[in-house]
Amino acid sequence: MNQQQFENFTASSLYCEKCKAAMPVRERLLLVLPDREIYDYLCTGCGSSVGRREITAGEKLMAQAVTGRRRRRSAAVHQLAP
Ligand SMILES: [Zn+2]
Repeated sequence: MNQQQFENFTASSLYCEKCKAAMPVRERLLLVLPDREIYDYLCTGCGSSVGRREITAGEKLMAQAVTGRRRRRSAAVHQLAP
């Protein structure tokens, strides 16, 4: 269940009713609330909204933890450079 949620979060394509195909989507921040953020997913083919997603504070923290890990790794690489 958690794994599927993570895959949804990183999904880069969704089914578009207008294009009648799974299309690459663009993520747009729609609304920021104190405990969650709402994102709109727009089809890159026709520009229509193909989905919405709420990211709760907990999920956001998880995403930030992943980003933090990446940053730390790149910082270590940077330290090795002269
Ligand atoms: Zn479309």
